[in-house]
Amino acid sequence: MADVRLTGVRKAFGDTTVLDGVDLTVADGEFVVVVGPSGCGKSTLLRVIAGLEAPGAGSVAIGGAVVDHLPPAERGIAMVFQSYALYPHMSVRANLEFALRMQRLPRAEIRAAVDAAAATLDLTDLLDRRPAVLSGGQRQRVAIGRAIVRKPRVFLFDEPLSNLDAALRVRMRYEFAALHRALGATMLYVTHDQVEAMTLADRIVVLNQGRIEQVGTPQQLYDRPATRFVAGFIGTPR
Ligand code: ADP
Ligand code: MG
Repeated sequence: MADVRLTGVRKAFGDTTVLDGVDLTVADGEFVVVVGPSGCGKSTLLRVIAGLEAPGAGSVAIGGAVVDHLPPAERGIAMVFQSYALYPHMSVRANLEFALRMQRLPRAEIRAAVDAAAATLDLTDLLDRRPAVLSGGQRQRVAIGRAIVRKPRVFLFDEPLSNLDAALRVRMRYEFAALHRALGATMLYVTHDQVEAMTLADRIVVLNQGRIEQVGTPQQLYDRPATRFVAGFIGTPR
């Protein structure tokens, strides 16, 4: 089980409160999309879950166990950012293997994990290429592949498609849905694209100035937005 539970999470940078008491439970295997305007705390929320930022108050639990004391590498989490830095001098295969090298796994096991991730992401034919010759979508798939090979319990995606053009974003949207079905992992996905949120999410979290405005299925938010802000964000008249 890899449910994610945030309890009373607060985070401030200096005088600026960025997360203002966030309570949220993401079920094991659930795909939750976090939406909200720029600067509302979406990235900080993911970084707190990943252990890249320590909350000023509150707690994070994964799989029923509090992880506040654990460094990022021991949380069973993989995070994919919008700016995915691949190693330019390494092949796709080497980029994927690199993610596993620290774990000192047997060579055959590393190869098998990379082959499986490549098959899942349709990268098998690209394994010998360098990132420079790949398209934006292919590079993004390699970045996701680096997350998959480590077999995390939880995936955190921070606007993973925002650097891609519109047509590619639509295609990649289907790939994320397929990936979620294939892996059955718990996923938290940040975007400011409503359509992406509505099509991918089991549930959507609407964040505003560090507070959760509403959590619900796309249908619930569309039919019954709790506030004018949610209605505006989801694009329904109210
Ligand atoms: P979002 O991802 O929703 O755009 P962020 O979580 O990145 O928002 O940022 C929320 C607020 O916190 C912003 O005002 C941002 O400037 C501020 N912030 C984020 N990280 C830091 C940091 N390391 N130091 C100071 N301020 C930060
Ligand atoms: Mg952000």
